[in-house]
Order: sequence, then C-alpha cells, then structure tokens
Amino acid sequence: MPIYEIFGSDAHAMTKALLEAADIASAIPAGADVALKPNLVVAADPDSGATTHPGVLSGCIEYCLDHGITDISVIEGSWVGDETGRAMRAAGYDEVCRKYDVPFFDLKHDETEEADTPFGPIAVCKRALYAGYLINLPVLKGHCQTVMTCALKNCKGCLPDREKRRFHAAGLIKPIAALACALKPDLTVVDSICGDLNFEEGGNPIRTNRMFMGTDPVQIDAYGCQLMGLDLSDVPYIGYAEAWGAGTTHIGPAEILRLNEPTAAGEYPKPSGTVARLTKTVRADSACSACYAALVRALYTAGNATNRPIAIGQGWRGKDFPGVGIGRCCDCAAIKVPGCPPTAEAIARAIGRR
Ligand code: SF4
Repeated sequence: MPIYEIFGSDAHAMTKALLEAADIASAIPAGADVALKPNLVVAADPDSGATTHPGVLSGCIEYCLDHGITDISVIEGSWVGDETGRAMRAAGYDEVCRKYDVPFFDLKHDETEEADTPFGPIAVCKRALYAGYLINLPVLKGHCQTVMTCALKNCKGCLPDREKRRFHAAGLIKPIAALACALKPDLTVVDSICGDLNFEEGGNPIRTNRMFMGTDPVQIDAYGCQLMGLDLSDVPYIGYAEAWGAGTTHIGPAEILRLNEPTAAGEYPKPSGTVARLTKTVRADSACSACYAALVRALYTAGNATNRPIAIGQGWRGKDFPGVGIGRCCDCAAIKVPGCPPTAEAIARAIGRR
C-alpha cells in the first residue's frame, strides 16, 4: 500500500477520508475486533502537540461503524509517572468513547505475554498482541531522547511499566526496533496536525496540518524523518527495525498518494534544536522518559543558572557524581533531587540554586 496523505485541520474528516480512500474496511477480516492505539503519553491537550487528537479516534470509530464493524476498543498506557485515565480525559477521549459506546482499556492493567524478538523476550500487553486488527495512531513529533517519535515508538505504550523501564535501561534504540518485530500494527494513521517538533510532552506545537497513513510502520517513520528534515541515522531504531525485517525505509516517488494539496506552500518546519542545546552537557545514562522530560521542562523554565554538571538515569545507580543528580537513581550525587521521577519544580530548584 502507498502512503496516503491529506492536508487540513479537521482530524475527524481527514481520518475518515484516508480510510475511505484506501478502502481499509476490505482489509479488516470479517468478525475481527479493531483496537485503536493513540498516543496518550501524558495528560495533555492534543493542541499542545503531545497527544493524538480525539478527532482521529472518532474518525476511525465512525468509519468502522459505517462499514458494519462494531467490535471496537481504544487501548493505551501512558508513560511511567502518569495515569492513563487522567491522560484520556485531558485529551477528550472520555467524550468520544461515551458518544460511540466504545470501551477504553488502560494497558497498565492488562495481562502480558512474552514475545520472542531479536533483543530477547519482551513482555507485551495481550490486548495489543491479540487484536484482530490493530490501528496505531501516533503523533509525529520530536523526542528529547530519541530525536523523533512516530509509529515505532508509539508501540511502547503497549508494554507494562516494568518493561518500559527496562527499555530505558537498555538505551531504547534496540528494544524499540525489536518490539516492531513482535507487535505489528495492521495500519498506522499519523496525526501530524500540530506536533511539537522538539519535545514529546508538547508545549510548542507547530501547525503542519497534515495526516498520513500506511501499513509499514518502518516506512512511515522513514517518511516522518524526511518531513522533519532528519537523516535516518539521527533515529537509529528505524534502521535496526529494517535490518531485523520489520519493514522498509525505502519510499519510491510513486509511493506517496496525496488526497489533496496543502493550502500554504513552503517547507515543512524543522525542529529548532532547543532541547538538544539545553541538554548538551547533561550526563544521561538510561534515563526514563518521564525523568528526562521533567529535567527538560526544568531547563526550559529555569535554565542551568549554576552551570553545575547534571547526571540522570538508571546507569548512575551507586555511582558518585560531583554535580546535581536527578532522581532516585542518582542518590550518590553531591546534590540530590529526590523522586522517581522527580518533579520539574524540584529539579528547577536544584539547578537554579547558587
Ligand atoms: S529516578 Fe528517573 S531514571 Fe531512575 S528509575 Fe526513576 S524515573 Fe527512571
């Protein structure tokens, strides 16, 4: 299937148009349950650039109902440190689920099963693993640790929290790629209406008024890189996923099928590099997303007024550090910020203290 692309700002209508254009109903096996997996990484309004717009969800649900598919659910687990229920309400999914009478399942409470991958066994939530037809609904946005996040990384929400922590301890890259070999969404519909191109928690949304859709998550991520002006080597898990047979990064000239044209011409906006600049001197070793994001938020608001060195991550456990240690893992640092994860406010106080 080519990558289908559409421009506009009405997520609901754009989603339905994409699904209709590709006749997705004919690809859904008769009697299959459809599971929709959005990005609800944190409790944030989708217009902040962090989470999938509720219109993407309602567009998928209405399309399925229009085609006689009624066994539909929404599945997601927020990152370690946030509650999925809080995130689903902040994104307006409770109203969508109520309107269409579709259940929402918090994957933090789901049963898991170990799947074999090139990285060894990975525990995956069963509702994702055994969905009759899994539709991945990521946001194309920047990420403070992996530079970019879209189709492949969104699947991390289908893991229990303990496995998410293990992914971070292992440096994220290979585990994310390996997960793509075990959990293969049937379809990926990308919300690129206003993602934050620097930070997965949002806050600086960049309006790009675009959505795109495909069946190969590796190719979808490769296209996301292209749009953001990134080289594939900037996001190494994409190359690993391809090497392990999860998809292809190749995009031929005829493989983008546009349903309309953008109203405003011009280049796709590029990441500003703010997060990379702010964290240039941070000594990170296997830090969890919530911990690292709290540090980024603190650096955004307070800067590093003292210029003290900063350490963060599970790799610092038990190691002495002469500067500021972020979180419980760094409790051997000279200046400790307690918590797991610590709050951005506590970090800001520590790095702002003279
Ligand atoms: S302190 Fe931070 S890096 Fe360490 S386990 Fe907790 S959240 Fe993860």
